[in-house]
Amino acid sequence: MLTDGSYIQRSRQSWKFWLFVVALAGGGLALLIGFLPPVSSDPSLFVPLVLGSSCFVLGGLLWICISIKCRRCKSSFGWIAVRKKQQDNWFAWLITTDTCPVCGDQEALKK
Ligand SMILES: [Zn+2]
Repeated sequence: MLTDGSYIQRSRQSWKFWLFVVALAGGGLALLIGFLPPVSSDPSLFVPLVLGSSCFVLGGLLWICISIKCRRCKSSFGWIAVRKKQQDNWFAWLITTDTCPVCGDQEALKK
């Protein structure tokens, strides 16, 4: 999913991205389990699963917003992506960009 030339990959922050993917997958799985018939009819299971899945997804989004940073100016790439890029392509931008949008850092490309 990450391209070799992306800043995230080259600055060795791809584990942060994968943690985000795992959080989304975990949230999705919890939601799926919550809506299975034997579980969804039991509020003591359904409610915590659905709330838990929301926490996973929101936590994952928050994580990706604050965790991926420029090596030079410490700008949060995820936050910039969410704030400044268009809603439908912020994610694509985040995982493919090779330059810091704030300071233009390409440190990671010099290897
Ligand atoms: Zn920067």
